[in-house]
Amino acid sequence: MRPLSYTRAFDVETAVATAAANENSAFLAGGTTEIDLVRLGVTGPDLLVDINALPLADIEQQPDGGLRIGALARMTDVARHSVVEERYPAASQALLLGASEQLRNMASIGGNLCQRTRCTYFRDNMSPCNKREPGSGCSALEGIHRGHAIMGTSEHCIATHPSDVAVALVAFDAVVHTIGPDGARTIPIDDFYLEPGTSPHIEHPLAHGELIVAVDLPALPIARNSVYLKFRDRQSYEFALVSIAAAVEVEDGVVRDVRLGIGGIATRPWRARRAEEVLIGAPATREKFIEAAAAELSGASLRRDNAFKAELAKRAVVRGLTTLLPGEAR
Ligand SMILES: Cc1cc2nc3c(=O)[nH]c(=O)nc-3n(C[C@H](O)[C@H](O)[C@H](O)COP(=O)(O)OP(=O)(O)OC[C@H]3O[C@@H](n4cnc5c(N)ncnc54)[C@H](O)[C@@H]3O)c2cc1C
Ligand code: SF4
Repeated sequence: MRPLSYTRAFDVETAVATAAANENSAFLAGGTTEIDLVRLGVTGPDLLVDINALPLADIEQQPDGGLRIGALARMTDVARHSVVEERYPAASQALLLGASEQLRNMASIGGNLCQRTRCTYFRDNMSPCNKREPGSGCSALEGIHRGHAIMGTSEHCIATHPSDVAVALVAFDAVVHTIGPDGARTIPIDDFYLEPGTSPHIEHPLAHGELIVAVDLPALPIARNSVYLKFRDRQSYEFALVSIAAAVEVEDGVVRDVRLGIGGIATRPWRARRAEEVLIGAPATREKFIEAAAAELSGASLRRDNAFKAELAKRAVVRGLTTLLPGEAR
């Protein structure tokens, strides 16, 4: 067994300084991912910096109408918060469709955003995996890849990002606030997730020791009319094959604004900008939704076992948007 030290931080500055001072440290929030990976030997920190005592669990309305969610707010508390339910229903639904109730009570928002892929090869120390061990190869390319990505892939990694709520947060232009060894910064969530390229082990722009302290949801009236749908092999306790976070504003039968995030198909929570472009100013019809979905998925990189995801994703986009139309327009 590898030796593993543990320390509990009581303020943000100490947490950051302690983690930054040890190159092989990791933050510990709910532990629902981190402890699994340590047990499997996928990650091998020699110091865990427990951040649960930090005052980062509040969910607060902002003067501009937005919402600030502390990094340590638990998935359950965020999902059940009245403002999230009313103004950002897709985010609430995404959280409630993830994991299990016990896990949601433990798992934090910051940890959810930083969770690692569920690619089986990544979690199996015996298999080559560029994300776990840079330069070792990718077992999924010719192996079992039914659940893997068709968008944002590279020849070095095709693993999907597993977070549900991140898909809604990407659609809503959330902003990640961090404090690191070099101070505080804000990162638009669309810049937070990096595609694998030639360095799949680098998944986000956080410096070592940089702590997510909060996530902001901007004031976004369109988000009130939003939905999150998740398609998976079984109805609970399962990651998405495809998921969709959709929000739409329709006036006189025309799409005035639309937000689309797609999960389960990409190496990062996927903002469907091509589809959005097709839809803005277009009639809010099923035919147009199909056209928009096809435009988005036209760049998909399909493999032997995961090609079905393209069609599933198109149908998910159409279903998500249709669900949001007033009854008579569906
Ligand atoms: C069986 C199972 C099923 C699941 N199903 C789903 C699902 O369907 N959908 C879904 O979205 N998720 C699912 N999850 C994943 C779950 O949501 C994550 O494990 C959880 O959100 C991680 O949060 P945590 O607080 O436990 O993080 P931890 O496990 O403590 O940390 C995870 C990672 O984030 C880092 N970290 C934590 N907090 C911060 C911070 N504030 N700043 C910087 N880095 C930080 C840690 O160092 C670690 O690398 C599932 C998990 C399990 C075990
Ligand atoms: S898809 Fe990515 S995580 Fe999975 S084996 Fe290949 S490199 Fe590793």
